[in-house]
Amino acid sequence: MSKGKDVAKRAKTEDHMYRYCRVIGCPHPARAGSENGLDRRFCRRHADQYSRHGSPYKKSYTATQLKPHRKVVRAWLKRNSDHVLVKNGVQRIEGLYSRSGTHTEAFRLAGMSPSERARKAWARLRESSVSPLKVIEAWLVIGLAIEADPAPEESVEFRRVQAAKLVHRLASGTHKRWERDVPVARGSTTTQKHVTELHKYPQSRGRVLRIFGEDIEEACKLVEEAFLSVRN
Ligand SMILES: [Zn+2]
Repeated sequence: MSKGKDVAKRAKTEDHMYRYCRVIGCPHPARAGSENGLDRRFCRRHADQYSRHGSPYKKSYTATQLKPHRKVVRAWLKRNSDHVLVKNGVQRIEGLYSRSGTHTEAFRLAGMSPSERARKAWARLRESSVSPLKVIEAWLVIGLAIEADPAPEESVEFRRVQAAKLVHRLASGTHKRWERDVPVARGSTTTQKHVTELHKYPQSRGRVLRIFGEDIEEACKLVEEAFLSVRN
């Protein structure tokens, strides 16, 4: 093949690669471009999924899926609260709390860099008096969930994002609850209580989750070694 043809062929192949979403079987075009470069490889839906869940393919674990793992981890942490590496993990997380600066309301976070927002997430946990043990619990629980998963997503990014999402939720967001009486049926005078709840947390997606997740991993690495060594 002449050099010219070879180049043309390669350009065509690359063009094809970039034109379609990288998720196998997805017929949608990749997004033309984006501010963070993450989504160029995927269609809108898969880019959004990747940003929120840490994998373009796999959804986040549900509370029900995590429940048995939580039980195991909680029991272990309770039995080992005096373990030197558990104490080490707690200290590291307290360090993240104390270095995180002033607390900032969720609605003021727009425009901040992902690393600033990750720091603010630690400040939010500190302000909500979240026990560092809960952060450790989240990291270990996600580890067990991935391990038990018959079709796991094994990238470290996925694990960081999954843990970050759990920890993110431990801090209080804005919570509202309304109760009102509504008829049990159309035109009925019998009423029942209807409760509406609104939970607003700072946006849980994108680079901030990766950075926050890396902080969690760093703080929990040694605890995890202890956890895995006694279990195996
Ligand atoms: Zn797609």
